[in-house]
Amino acid sequence: MSAKTPGEELKEKLLYTPKNLSEKMTPEEKDAAEAFSVPYKEFLDRAKTEREAVAVMVEMLEGAGYRPFVPGTSYPAGSKVYLNNRGKALIASTIGTLDIGEGVRIEAAHIDNPRLDLKPNPLVEEQELCYLKTHYYGGIKKYQWTAIPLSLHGVVVKKDGSSVTVTIGEDPADPVFCVTDLLPHLGKDQMKKPMTEGITGEQLNILVGCELYPDEKVSERVKLNIMSLLNGKYGITEGDFQSAELCAVPAFRARDIGLDRGMIGAYGHDDRVCAYAQLMAEMGAKSPAHTTVTVFADKEEVGSDGVTGLHSHFLVDFIADLAQAGGKELRHVLRASACLSADVSVAYDPAFPDVTEKHNCAYLGYGPVLTKYTGGGGKSSTNDAPAEYVAFVEGLLEANGVTWQTGELGKVDQGGGGTVAKYVSHFNVDTVDMGVAVLSMHAPFEVISKADLYMTYKAMEAFYK
Ligand code: MN
Ligand code: MN
Repeated sequence: MSAKTPGEELKEKLLYTPKNLSEKMTPEEKDAAEAFSVPYKEFLDRAKTEREAVAVMVEMLEGAGYRPFVPGTSYPAGSKVYLNNRGKALIASTIGTLDIGEGVRIEAAHIDNPRLDLKPNPLVEEQELCYLKTHYYGGIKKYQWTAIPLSLHGVVVKKDGSSVTVTIGEDPADPVFCVTDLLPHLGKDQMKKPMTEGITGEQLNILVGCELYPDEKVSERVKLNIMSLLNGKYGITEGDFQSAELCAVPAFRARDIGLDRGMIGAYGHDDRVCAYAQLMAEMGAKSPAHTTVTVFADKEEVGSDGVTGLHSHFLVDFIADLAQAGGKELRHVLRASACLSADVSVAYDPAFPDVTEKHNCAYLGYGPVLTKYTGGGGKSSTNDAPAEYVAFVEGLLEANGVTWQTGELGKVDQGGGGTVAKYVSHFNVDTVDMGVAVLSMHAPFEVISKADLYMTYKAMEAFYK
């Protein structure tokens, strides 16, 4: 082996060169990454909505010894508690060995995804075909939601307070649903339209039936037949849709991608990939120094508003309870706290090189993306993390053998996006964004790298040491 030239040595010392994890990781780390990806895929298949994610995570937390948080309790170090916010958002916490006055460590991901929500009065019949009308949730490219198998998920809450959980289309024996699209033979006019108009929001109607109710005397016989099937299975009537939260999501399961199986394709990596990584870090925390506060938020995809989104006070109220039990002022605890806003970022896509800037963009398989700021249009609407805090997190990652990268969400003035970071930093908590790079983000089938998933978990683990 020839010795490095002075130039090679200097380059290594002075220049920043990101590393591809498939080369950087040891064979043991690669095996660990593969093993980590298996239960992650199962998690994705079981948790396609925020409600399902909360249900699955509560089951896992209970199994790991977590108990419902009781405000006013003074918990000893090592105690594991959780707070279920209306079945749609969740906080899990391990009490630290340090005094609460030293602050908490927060990891915050979101568990809602872009999807097709049913309208309050969704069931319609047109020309003896029955549909469920939808109002899409989050940022979607509408044309991507036609001609793919969809499943129905959610709850119907009746006026007496009882609720029915609906899941149709996940069991291989179940029927599935779809939004139809136009055949290319007659698509001449449609194909001339801009892609934003080729399929409109009001065309995202889900096909649910075609058979007539056997009574010639009534009108809307297909709709009546479908409602009668729903009533038989769930005991609901048409009016009950008004107090329901039902949505259509892609019916397909998480799968390995590539002949090398280096990637995972699935619905909802954004942001279940970060949620799962931080859940595993949280459950693995034995006696952390700072109390861990692991947040799984709802409503991020629609701006974090609402009682289960991070624009609400549920996170800070939880920390207030911890502060009070420890005899400390909330504001002092918040000032001493630190947060990783764990959300996905864009991965460079060779098919679309023009939207990113290659020197400041994340790449698939180069580790979690540490993002100082998101936003758009001149860093508008973002948490631009202080350099001191970014350096602190980088030091933590380096000390724990985590390989990371940095990247902006697209090139300047191309667009942009936000995360929950600004809602946490609003409370005077140091916050920076970090998460997994995704290809086809917000598409029904998103792609991530298994190495990135694993390295993000290692980063989440390091933050809770
Ligand atoms: Mn996200
Ligand atoms: Mn998103």
